[in-house]
Amino acid sequence: MAEVLVVIEASATGGLKKVSLELLTLARELGEPSAVVFGPADGVVEKLGEYGAQKVYQADEPEFLVAPKAAVVASLVRDRQPAAVLLPATQEGKEIAGRLAVKLDNGLLIDAVGVAADGTATQVVFAGSTIVKSKVTKGIPLIAVRPNSVSPEPAPATPAVEPVTAELSDSDKLARVTDRVAEQKGSRPELTEASIVVSGGRGVGSAENFKLVEEVADLLGAAVGASRAATDSGFYPHQFQVGQTGKTVSPQLYMALGISGAIQHRAGMQTSKTIVAVNKDAEAPIFELADFGVVGDLFKIVPQAIEEIRKRKG
Ligand SMILES: Cc1cc2nc3c(=O)[nH]c(=O)nc-3n(C[C@H](O)[C@H](O)[C@H](O)COP(=O)(O)OP(=O)(O)OC[C@H]3O[C@@H](n4cnc5c(N)ncnc54)[C@H](O)[C@@H]3O)c2cc1C
Repeated sequence: MAEVLVVIEASATGGLKKVSLELLTLARELGEPSAVVFGPADGVVEKLGEYGAQKVYQADEPEFLVAPKAAVVASLVRDRQPAAVLLPATQEGKEIAGRLAVKLDNGLLIDAVGVAADGTATQVVFAGSTIVKSKVTKGIPLIAVRPNSVSPEPAPATPAVEPVTAELSDSDKLARVTDRVAEQKGSRPELTEASIVVSGGRGVGSAENFKLVEEVADLLGAAVGASRAATDSGFYPHQFQVGQTGKTVSPQLYMALGISGAIQHRAGMQTSKTIVAVNKDAEAPIFELADFGVVGDLFKIVPQAIEEIRKRKG
């Protein structure tokens, strides 16, 4: 069976980002997944095997940024001639993918939400209004897939670990990591990786009221998001903005509280699997895409929902 390279992204704590397991699951449709890991692999090999990695290529953690990672993957592609390469459509994954495409003179598809066995990628474009099916026509399928596009499914394997190195050119070493500062984080999941996202909009009314959004989120183990109107009004920090000029999320469940559903907001959440909206305006565009909508005042509806969730959680 043909080999499929999966570029693995580490989490800030040194484990695996969930998207890595999603990519291994998708890669099994295309062939036999081989994971490409940067840095020590000991702590992650077992998990990669659990999700179907037949092989783990382990490259040293580069003291440089993405350029050497792209060089390592390019050299692996030249050596092993895989059937396809899958990368996470994260900030780092997309940069590696772009560099890889240039190095290999290969086509590239970004922000896919699905990949078929023949390498056809599905993308959702024009602010979520159009679904496109595309194939790389030059070279092998080189595809960056959005986090949360599939559910990771185990397929136990015992991968062999193979160390790899690549010759780095001077241009690969132009950017160097000089310091690392750990981001202060609460216990909530990362917005783009979360299975559930609860977002608040202008309708939430104030920074103080966002505590209600946080309360529902914490009950559900969800990440908190916000519309641009909410972040611009200072209700919630900008790094949590969802939409065209914010983060793209694709959780199993997206709750939009007091959000009208402007096209720029939809662009960042339209591919969520189930969308729940609470809005006092029955004509709000968010109801066009909501699977479950409640017309009413969020300050009456949400506390009732919180009570019900608490009851069910016992
Ligand atoms: C170039 C560009 C890029 C943009 N990028 C983004 C982006 O990335 N993300 C983004 O979100 N927006 C973005 N926008 C802005 C976007 O056009 C909208 O202005 C914004 O999404 C509106 O946010 P909102 O839905 O919170 O506010 P509003 O549109 O003002 O909607 C507030 C909603 O809350 C409801 N409401 C009010 N009070 C209550 C209550 N008590 N209970 C229940 N419902 C209530 C109202 O009925 C209304 O529907 C962008 C715009 C431009 C031009």
